[in-house]
Amino acid sequence: MQVDLLIGGESRPATNNRTFNRTNPVTGDIASTAAAATPSDVAEAAEAASKAFPDWAQKGPAERRALLNKAADALEANTPDIIAMMLSETGATGGWAGFNCMLAAGMLREAAAMTTQISGEVIPSNKPGSLAMSQRKPLGVCLGIAPWNAPVILGVRAVAMAIACGNTAILKASELCPATHRAIGTAFADAGFPPGVLNIVSNAPKDAAEIVSALIAHPAVRHVNFTGSTNVGRIIASEAAKHLKPVLLELGGKAPMVVLSDADLDGAVNGAAFGAFMNQGQICMSTERIIVEESIAEAFVSAFAAKANGLPAGNPNENVVLGSLITQEAAEKMDALIEDATAKGAIVVAGGTRDGTIHKATLLDHVTPDMRIYNEESFGPVKPIIRVKDAEAAVRVANDTSYGLAASVYSNDIKRALSVADQIESGICHINGPTVGDEAQMPFGGVKDSGYGRFGGKAAIDAFTTQRWVTIEDAQQHYPF
Ligand code: NAD
Repeated sequence: MQVDLLIGGESRPATNNRTFNRTNPVTGDIASTAAAATPSDVAEAAEAASKAFPDWAQKGPAERRALLNKAADALEANTPDIIAMMLSETGATGGWAGFNCMLAAGMLREAAAMTTQISGEVIPSNKPGSLAMSQRKPLGVCLGIAPWNAPVILGVRAVAMAIACGNTAILKASELCPATHRAIGTAFADAGFPPGVLNIVSNAPKDAAEIVSALIAHPAVRHVNFTGSTNVGRIIASEAAKHLKPVLLELGGKAPMVVLSDADLDGAVNGAAFGAFMNQGQICMSTERIIVEESIAEAFVSAFAAKANGLPAGNPNENVVLGSLITQEAAEKMDALIEDATAKGAIVVAGGTRDGTIHKATLLDHVTPDMRIYNEESFGPVKPIIRVKDAEAAVRVANDTSYGLAASVYSNDIKRALSVADQIESGICHINGPTVGDEAQMPFGGVKDSGYGRFGGKAAIDAFTTQRWVTIEDAQQHYPF
């Protein structure tokens, strides 16, 4: 599949026809050949977005809303093609790819609805006869950098609310799924968006630092959002700081799930399996630490292990729960994590093996803080179980991480569950629900090394607008001289 850049409404190759290949992680075949943007392509994308901005910012909410709704319809209509692209570029299952299109369409419709909610306020002024207001204004060109793991959802999230608020946008595609990210541009074009409102650039992996740095540095770019790893998030935050540009960062996680002694065990097992193994554990909210009170640990672990062992893993074109990991290196990381943990005393109670990039749902019991899997985001289907003596110890383990994105607590005693949930340092916490969950209207984001800023609903209006103080005064007002 050939993937072009989208600049100023035009679908075109990169300068000098530069391209790079993305291979299918299961078959090793070329999944897509994508345009490898140069710094001059990046400048053109920023200029196209800047040129489109004044008109787009002036459009009324009804017009912006109608186009965003049409983009949602187009994305849904293109779902079968997008699923096929996503399967071959990322090795995800059809279920995950279909859910991506469904939630992304929901995000576009939510963004459409928010166009009438970008309101200001009238503020009492000390000046007699003066009317003082705060207004929400768009920022200009917003840059969104999205990852491969939930590509349609996170690609749309990177631009939808920015555009709803009257900004224009550049989406920088992931090197691992350029065709899937470019499909978002097709949906916007099908909807009839004016040229330049959404631009999409893809780049060769070796050019990532140069292209990202050129995008952030371009004077037309006024805001940056990045969803990806904490390491790259730090680079992006410091690049943006050099140019005094605001950043919204959605980074890695090590989501704890606390199972208290009075939990509904079946419910906890089902929530743990979904949270740990959906999309092979490659979700920022994936359950990355299962923390169980000692008194129910045996019963919980044996039921969870049985459930995990029953989850089919295989070629994503077949009817499986777990598809492929994103790369061979990701699969090899699972071997290293299992080897390290078992050498230090952990016990594999489910899975433990792989066939190429297809890894079985794997649980490591009796994990301790000296093991890599205790601290590192596995971002794969290998998950640690940590047994603790009581709720206090559970909170201590839940917070013993630099990350703070999602969390979950299972207990039938809501007062106790709330008290534990309250003490966990995370941007999101679900009681009696899995760590993985997203709805377009919810404030989504983390604390600590998981980043700062919020996507979702009204929180995103704050992110993608600036407040402006405007007054209407009495020209005949009194002056001291
Ligand atoms: P990643 O950090 O490797 O992101 C790669 C992106 O960074 C690409 O766009 C690449 O071009 C760019 N990049 C790479 N090197 C760079 C450099 N030196 N300078 C500037 N940019 C550079 O992350 P990934 O592997 O794509 O995604 C996985 C990570 O994303 C996980 O840690 C996961 O938890 C996190 N994530 C977070 C959320 C969230 O909402 N918090 C959602 C999904 C994924």
